[in-house]
Amino acid sequence: MNNIITVLLLYIQIQAKIIIYLMCALFSKGSVRKYYDEPVRKPYRKLVVDTMPIIETLEKLDYKQLISNHLKETGKLITPITRRKASTVPDTMACPRCGAPHEYLYDNTGGKGQYLCKVCKCTFNKKNRYLKNLIFLCPHCGRTLELKKERKDFNVHKCTNSKCPYYLDRLNSMSEEDKQRYKSSPHDFKLHYIYREFDIDFEPLVRKPSQPPSVDISRLYVSPHVLGLILTYHVNFGLSTRMTAALMREVHGVSVSHQSVSNYADAVATNIKPFIDNYKYDLSDSICGDETYIKVLGKWHYVFFIFDAVKKIILSYPVSANRDVKAAIYALDEALSKFDKLPEDLTLIFDGNPIYMLAQHYFAQYGIHFDIKQVIGLTNDDPISEEYRPLKQIIERLNRTFKGNYRPTNGFNNYAGSVSFLTLFVAYFNFLRPHSSLEGRVPVVLEELKDRPNMPARWVTLIKMSQEYIKAQQSA
Ligand SMILES: [Zn+2]
Ligand SMILES: [Zn+2]
Repeated sequence: MNNIITVLLLYIQIQAKIIIYLMCALFSKGSVRKYYDEPVRKPYRKLVVDTMPIIETLEKLDYKQLISNHLKETGKLITPITRRKASTVPDTMACPRCGAPHEYLYDNTGGKGQYLCKVCKCTFNKKNRYLKNLIFLCPHCGRTLELKKERKDFNVHKCTNSKCPYYLDRLNSMSEEDKQRYKSSPHDFKLHYIYREFDIDFEPLVRKPSQPPSVDISRLYVSPHVLGLILTYHVNFGLSTRMTAALMREVHGVSVSHQSVSNYADAVATNIKPFIDNYKYDLSDSICGDETYIKVLGKWHYVFFIFDAVKKIILSYPVSANRDVKAAIYALDEALSKFDKLPEDLTLIFDGNPIYMLAQHYFAQYGIHFDIKQVIGLTNDDPISEEYRPLKQIIERLNRTFKGNYRPTNGFNNYAGSVSFLTLFVAYFNFLRPHSSLEGRVPVVLEELKDRPNMPARWVTLIKMSQEYIKAQQSA
């Protein structure tokens, strides 16, 4: 009898699940997703990334000299441009190569931002005009690369030398069938060396000013100890704001709303962010990275974690709507700027996503060099060599810890909320969380926290240190 009831109950439960699923499918396609609230690990775009080009710095030219040379050689004077319409070239603009003023500059693309210098014939654009004294040479044959396509964020430079060994190698290794196909649709094949020059308005390793905290913590209506308790429950134990508020009320007899918990967390995050982002970390040269997912306004976003695999310190944790080269550049910049001086043989390890290689090339344009090692299988189920298995475990462990803390949040209603959450998580992970592989030590040992009796007290001290850091920065 009992058995039948159990079977029937199970049957009812299964039916209920099916009904929920069907209702969701009926009313909104999107909300079915909530019941399977794990994003699919989307494959990244496979892309052949060629080796770095040879980068040479062009010598600076002087437009007056060029004009007078031209006059001597040809008898012709290069005159300022006569324009039929009002000029769209800003008065303040000058040629980055030869210094010719705006009178000599053509608007090459009708207001889209590319200019041509009448004197030295160079093209340049607003965003990267200071970079344009670079020329790129093919690493295989030494020929200057030709600028082929301009995309939104990058330019494509191509080696068009028909005797280039790179090109010849690829051409010769084609099958007869491919050669036939190549004749009819050459664009399906990549035979020439190309370099993608990323062209975003961002100078690496330049100290970006930290955002001043929006809330003065000392003005919160909460005692430091209560604030420490709230952070301990909410951040260390990963309890939701509602659970934290309930605990405060039912265990500690402190009446606090879940909204206040959320507000306190945000306030602390903006106050400690400058401290944890600018802390002089003692780092190893074993740095690796991975992306993980969080939901902001109902959409999956990426967190770019870059961390020191030996010291277990998180160096970089930006949130981005896209998993693209720009996001990889920002993440790498944050990680690299944690080094006083980049180690000579710094190697960063990522999975096979080409965005990191392209980001590496971007840094090289600024003379910032490091190696990137791509390990297929590092963050997915592909087989992986013995050598990298420990690293894979480290990445998986960080991800597990993070996911455990993230799950109760149910995502964020705004971008700032996600940044707050990550900031607190990183503060906890780097400064407060004992790590089993560090023999129970925290990754970054702060002397000031050592004799604090408990976790709430450690949070209070960490906040105090962060405030002192901000004060010192403001008065410097
Ligand atoms: Zn010029
Ligand atoms: Zn070449």
